[in-house]
Amino acid sequence: MPKLDDLLKVVKENNKKADLDLIRLAYDFAEEAHKGQKRLSGEPYIIHPLHTAITLAEMKADHATIIAGLLHDVPEDTDYSLVDVEKNFGQEITGLVTGITKLGKIKYRGIERYSENLRKMFISMAQDFRTVLIKMADRLHNLKTLDVLPKEKAFRIALETLEIYAPIANRLGMGHMKGELEDYSFPYVYPKEYEWMQQNIIPRFKPKIEYIDRVIKQVKKELERHSIKIDSIHGRQKRLYSLYQKLQRPQYEKDLSKIYDLVAVRIIAKDTDDCYKVLGVIHNQFKPMPGRIKDYIAQPKPNHYQSIHTTVFGPDNEIVEFQIRTSDMHEEAEYGIAAHWQHKELSLRGKGYTVPKKLKWVIELVNWQKEIRSATDFLKSVKKFEAFATRIFVFTPNGDVIDMPEGATPVDFAFHIHTEVGNKCAGSKINGEIANLGTPLKNGDVVEIIIDKNRKGPSRDWLKFAKTNMARYKIRTGALK
Ligand code: MN
Repeated sequence: MPKLDDLLKVVKENNKKADLDLIRLAYDFAEEAHKGQKRLSGEPYIIHPLHTAITLAEMKADHATIIAGLLHDVPEDTDYSLVDVEKNFGQEITGLVTGITKLGKIKYRGIERYSENLRKMFISMAQDFRTVLIKMADRLHNLKTLDVLPKEKAFRIALETLEIYAPIANRLGMGHMKGELEDYSFPYVYPKEYEWMQQNIIPRFKPKIEYIDRVIKQVKKELERHSIKIDSIHGRQKRLYSLYQKLQRPQYEKDLSKIYDLVAVRIIAKDTDDCYKVLGVIHNQFKPMPGRIKDYIAQPKPNHYQSIHTTVFGPDNEIVEFQIRTSDMHEEAEYGIAAHWQHKELSLRGKGYTVPKKLKWVIELVNWQKEIRSATDFLKSVKKFEAFATRIFVFTPNGDVIDMPEGATPVDFAFHIHTEVGNKCAGSKINGEIANLGTPLKNGDVVEIIIDKNRKGPSRDWLKFAKTNMARYKIRTGALK
């Protein structure tokens, strides 16, 4: 059973500026408020908010978020109210606890419940992103204790996690959280498949890990010989659920030998330059597999993941994947949005909340869902929503990278740049050649929009091929005028 000291220890490691006294105070307050309450497992209730806060501290969340994690069930489940929280902890923390409390009250069942949950989550995210971090940490601890629930209920919570929480965590770049949520839900949603993985796949990890240890020793020596200092080199096992999903794809046919990143070698280099030097050393030592070098440093993934991946023929001609990144890139990949508060990249300005540019999609979703009536429609469209779809990268003529959903056209691109660019768009060039406005864009295309200053507005015909919700919305409203 964890103690307050365990939380303080993690906080001290991850966030030097956190107010430890206020965290102690919040713990005492929560313990007092939940006094006498028990979890279904029979343990004292306080261990739940404590686990939640520890997870948040591990995610490198700021101290207001950690404190709100300790207090998150107080207003709903105890005699203390939000007013009591505000008196003791002020406006910022109370705002977060309010956000979580609102999320908690979902009356519906079945599909209505799903949809309601999602709507609320996006609205609260648009107000303050940290709410969703708390909600995920809360959910993670509940998942870890699903065993005490009736089977039916455990299944429902785990399924909801796989369908809603994990994709959101992924889109927010929280790789570690996504993996945890998925792996804890997996056995409850797909018990037979989970069992199959345990029997057939897990035993295969061991020899691979031994092999990777050998590779690591060799690479270490080689890096030393080239006097390249790195922060760390270690084996990274693929997550179970993510591996299960990969094995479902037709090209793998449940055949493990076709999966090269079962255990990958991860190298944390000192800086970006060193990442490329390390890549050079590896390719010099082992022959790279053609077409398997992915430079996500030069071209980050839409969720801002950065790393160089390369697959090579290692010792004894066995295939090995390497992942090379800096420690900043690593932190971003593991914790995503959560780690940003500490770095002061995101901030609360006055009462208003500023949404960083890269998270504009949440606001888009919030605005757009207001128009959708039925729960089924909403769920369907969210699953199709571009934020969760496969993304492609295209470039402006200045070399700025724009990420768009697969199948997006120059018209989508134009509206993405600016409403006026969309409204006045008369034609386009793709890679320097005149192209039809409805041409689906491909990864790496350089897109230029030709503008007609006299143009009054968008054409309704564009709806035949416009892909993004934003462009479609603007064409619909703009063309009506
Ligand atoms: Mn809770």
